[in-house]
Amino acid sequence: MRGLSYTIADSADAAVAQFAEAGGAARYIAGGTNLYDLMKLGIERPVHLIDVSRIEGLDAIETEGDVLRFGSRALMADVARAPVVRDEYPVLAESLLKAASQQLRNMATVGGNLLQRTRCMYFRNGAGASSTVGVYPCNKREPGSGCAAIDGLDRTQAVLGTSDACTAVAPGDWPVALTALDAVIEIFGPEGTRNVPIADFYRLPGDTPHREFNLDPGELVTAITVRKTPAGRASTYHKIRDRESYAFALASAAVAVEMEGESVRAARIALGGVATMPWRASTAERAVTGSALTPELALEAGQAAFAEARPGRQNAFKTDLGARVVADALMIAAQRRA
Ligand SMILES: Cc1cc2nc3c(=O)[nH]c(=O)nc-3n(C[C@H](O)[C@H](O)[C@H](O)COP(=O)(O)OP(=O)(O)OC[C@H]3O[C@@H](n4cnc5c(N)ncnc54)[C@H](O)[C@@H]3O)c2cc1C
Repeated sequence: MRGLSYTIADSADAAVAQFAEAGGAARYIAGGTNLYDLMKLGIERPVHLIDVSRIEGLDAIETEGDVLRFGSRALMADVARAPVVRDEYPVLAESLLKAASQQLRNMATVGGNLLQRTRCMYFRNGAGASSTVGVYPCNKREPGSGCAAIDGLDRTQAVLGTSDACTAVAPGDWPVALTALDAVIEIFGPEGTRNVPIADFYRLPGDTPHREFNLDPGELVTAITVRKTPAGRASTYHKIRDRESYAFALASAAVAVEMEGESVRAARIALGGVATMPWRASTAERAVTGSALTPELALEAGQAAFAEARPGRQNAFKTDLGARVVADALMIAAQRRA
């Protein structure tokens, strides 16, 4: 049996100080729905947990001028049902409501959701709780050990952003919606506060797939901000999965559009379930901007989003499925314009 200590932080300052005191083997814990899971699988092995789920003020959901601000320990369920989110930003509300289950959303935080780890079965199934080396090689879990997915079962693996070291899909739905809206992540650490655009928060696997986030040890995510956009209401999160609820995306698209009559003045498109990080589909955005939106153009845009796809043996269906998800999401979002 391994020892595990636990403290509760009542402020961001206290959390960062407790982390520094505990050294490298500490982890922050919020809802615990991902971290406890990974501890039981033997993938995460912290010796000290710092509970950040009670920090005063970090559960706030606020509007400050033209910015929406979500404290990192706000619950997924609370953010999804906040009137400003539900009524003005369907893409955000739907990305949360189509994730996990109601019970999980009542526990899980929007900050923890950003930092959840991949569901790649070789990452999760390779480590026994009592062993340090997994049965299956996984560069994300054991750097340098190899990637069992590349020559293994790859139906659910990524087709965009992959490398020779890793094809694991980024699992979260909420980060995809935040990527479409150019959210900013507020981070507090020993050096103070810094703000990181979400596009710079996630890392491509390259040859260091174990480094998934641009977050230093001991840094605490304190908030997520989204600048208000006229495209907010004309938006949707469209998610296709193996069953209609309680499943991760096979392919998803977060889309928000600004329309001028039947023409697209501006489009924001991000993809989930198909890439190694939340994926901005700029080529698809360019394909529809300035043109009248038809189902045919929407499908062309979807196909453009997958022009650089590198499918494996069993996941080539994701390029066609993903293109159709983008096309459907564009048409749904456009219908929601005021
Ligand atoms: C059965 C099941 C189905 C699921 N389905 C989906 C789904 O369809 N879509 C989806 O998006 N998600 C899904 N999830 C994942 C779920 O949404 C995440 O587990 C949850 O959002 C994580 O939030 P948490 O607060 O519980 O994080 P925790 O488990 O507490 O923490 C997760 C990670 O974030 C770190 N962390 C937490 N808070 C902070 C902070 N403020 N600053 C720095 N680090 C922090 C922790 O150290 C840990 O590494 C599913 C989970 C389960 C168990």
